[in-house]
Amino acid sequence: MSETRHLDAISGRYSEARPLSQAHFGRDRQVMPGGVKGAYYHAPYPLTMARGEGCYLWDVDGHRYVDFANHHTSQVLGHNHEAVTEAIATQLQRGIALGAAMGNEVELAEEMCSRVKSLERVRFCNSGTEATLHAIRLARGFTGRPKIAKFEGGYHGSHDAVEISVAPALDKAGPAEAPHAVPQVRGMAPHAIDEMLILPYDDEASVARLVSAHREELACIILDPKAGVLPQRAEFMRSVAETAHRSEVPLILDEIVGFRVGTGGIQEHFGITPDLTTFGKIIGGGLPVGAFGGRAELMDLLDGTRGPTGFFQSGTYSGHPLVMAAGMATLSQLTPAAFDHMNELTQRLCDGIERQLQRLGVGGKAVHNGSVFSIYFTDGELTDYRSLARCDKKRAQPVFLALLERGYFLSHNLGMNALSLPTQVEHVDGLIEAFGEAVGATL
Ligand code: PMP
Repeated sequence: MSETRHLDAISGRYSEARPLSQAHFGRDRQVMPGGVKGAYYHAPYPLTMARGEGCYLWDVDGHRYVDFANHHTSQVLGHNHEAVTEAIATQLQRGIALGAAMGNEVELAEEMCSRVKSLERVRFCNSGTEATLHAIRLARGFTGRPKIAKFEGGYHGSHDAVEISVAPALDKAGPAEAPHAVPQVRGMAPHAIDEMLILPYDDEASVARLVSAHREELACIILDPKAGVLPQRAEFMRSVAETAHRSEVPLILDEIVGFRVGTGGIQEHFGITPDLTTFGKIIGGGLPVGAFGGRAELMDLLDGTRGPTGFFQSGTYSGHPLVMAAGMATLSQLTPAAFDHMNELTQRLCDGIERQLQRLGVGGKAVHNGSVFSIYFTDGELTDYRSLARCDKKRAQPVFLALLERGYFLSHNLGMNALSLPTQVEHVDGLIEAFGEAVGATL
């Protein structure tokens, strides 16, 4: 069967079996452009879910899936974990939000500072986007320098300072060793790209050269530890940290997809000490959250009790008591043994997926950082954004739909998936087998 006919057939079966999701999507898009989550659209239409429990999801048409996406990696304990639902219920008895501290924000802040060595102070906000916005502003104010450096293919949320060269077209991206800054979307402040220096992943020599050439004007280097969703080499990560330190340019490590490798974050795993770190996802236990923190010297500029510093950061819902309760309950379950369990299963999964690809003679890779994993179809080496951009992306859609048919829910492009704590060997082995069938059916 040709590729197109195979995709048509599988999309047809998907639609036939999921009429209620189709009706929901039809209604959604009348009032929300592209539905509730435009960025997560996939053809023929995305699922509407009815409920989740542990590592399972059920859609409104009654299909059950093993969840390997886990709300964009944030549901590390799976769905409706007792510790989290009880913490939220207990907090709810005291009120939803009272316009004052309720005492549980400090528990989460202390827990984060005790886990992550570089954190002396932390500030909560409502999303990863807000976290990078405020961390960058702090670095700019602290250094008095205008420019920021980010990596080609790195993602830091959706504000003007960072939505640049996230996924640039290769014919616009310039030389690999000195990439051009390419706006990701229309409508950004025109000067945003003038204040951006783009660095290449996986090329420590070019990073050192570019940073040293621009050090006088650089307020910070912001580093997403995954190019797109491809984990970087430890030596590369350490070299970026050394370059930042040597050049006296503050390093912001973006750990928004953090607490996925071990208790001390990605920075402990790679042995690096950033000046500031941004957080999101897991620290809110599935509720909206962001945080940034780091060296007291920088963070205390936000301390209004010391008199005017010229700095300010606030938000109506920052440090929301329900979020703090859910986040603390989540972190308390993330013991070293919990990380070992998820990391080992993810290794087993990636090994199994690569075995299937080899058996079928299909070029591809399954890569992971702790319990976050991505699947790519390519015959080439994967090192940086440009090698990712050359992957065969068309192949993901029929495989994603075929996995749904077999009861496995992944992210629709097969990038940035994640395990949750309730996942067991049988779920992983089931996905490996289903993946072999799904890819085999496309040949
Ligand atoms: N930084 C990174 C590394 C991310 O992966 C994301 C979101 N996936 C963000 C920032 C933005 O976070 P949010 O979606 O909460 O704004």
